[in-house]
Amino acid sequence: MSRKMLVIGEARDGVLRNVTFEAIAAAKKVSTDGEIVGVICGADDLEAAGKEMIYYGADRVITVKNDQLKTYTSDGYGQALLAVIDEESPEGIIMGHTAIGKDITPKLASKMESGLISDAIQIEETGENLVFTRPIYSGKAFEKKIITDGLLFATIRPNNIKALERDDSRSGEVTAKSVEMKDLRTVIQDVIRKSTDGVDLSEASIIVAGGRGVKSAEGFEPLEELADVLGAALGASRGACDAGYCDYSLQIGQTGKVVTPDLYIAVGISGAIQHLAGMSNSKIIVAINKDPEANIFNVADYGIVGDLFDVVPKLTEQIKQI
Ligand code: FAD
Repeated sequence: MSRKMLVIGEARDGVLRNVTFEAIAAAKKVSTDGEIVGVICGADDLEAAGKEMIYYGADRVITVKNDQLKTYTSDGYGQALLAVIDEESPEGIIMGHTAIGKDITPKLASKMESGLISDAIQIEETGENLVFTRPIYSGKAFEKKIITDGLLFATIRPNNIKALERDDSRSGEVTAKSVEMKDLRTVIQDVIRKSTDGVDLSEASIIVAGGRGVKSAEGFEPLEELADVLGAALGASRGACDAGYCDYSLQIGQTGKVVTPDLYIAVGISGAIQHLAGMSNSKIIVAINKDPEANIFNVADYGIVGDLFDVVPKLTEQIKQI
């Protein structure tokens, strides 16, 4: 199958998010022989990020650097991306289903009068069709979609489609394109970013998440230690956030982040439906809860019934021995 594909990369402070590489792999799946063109917008030097996209499978990359793209705005990124789309006329566009992806892709799709398949977790070729699978009803069911005509435009959920191996021997052009920004309606003075030491929650392959069962902010400490030894990101239920034990940026669930790590360790979390909506598609789920009837055990692959303040430090010690 040969389609010219555009992959919209996402760089934070000039560094690409992993989902960009996964989006390149997705583009390769839908276009085995076609050209894969990457595009990255921002205010930083994007040359190195452009090369990274090439190492991960893009054939060439267009960078749009502009001070007005320092902070994401749908106006600014919209204008930059539409200028590139206009020039390149791709037959398909793929981007990560991130906060920015969720915001910009419907806008682009409406401008181009195209459809959009959002939040795909799998892409398969079945007969003549490319079938996109996406979770619906908070992950309780899966919908299969095909594109019958027009632009193939999709976003992919991070951590589901495996990126290709990095190949430093690949070469390709990284071209800077200048786009004049007109009538930007959104002006953001500054962005306050929570300092997230360590691993990015939405792209983490291991997550240790705490619930109201941790009982206090200090109760998160044993979970932090476990996360440290595992190289995991820390997450939380809304119960823990509402109780003030941790910041809302850690919230996982229907009204929080949706995650799909390889390993999700739920500690002192009851397993409310709204929490499951954000994590039930994790590849392996381990639950630690003192209540054997807790709903979280219904989705867990492995369960430990016990007091988390007893179990978690022991688990950390055991893992340190490995
Ligand atoms: P609880 O339900 O209070 O569970 C605490 C668990 O800890 C219990 O199972 C208990 O047995 C266990 N426990 C207690 N002490 C210990 C111990 N010492 N050792 C081991 N286990 C212990 N929730 C989310 O998480 N994410 C969302 O995005 C979200 N969105 C929502 C949206 C809406 C519109 C609504 C109405 C609710 C939403 N909720 C969300 C809230 C959700 O319904 C639950 O209230 C919440 O998930 C409960 O959090 P929890 O499991 O930490 O707390």
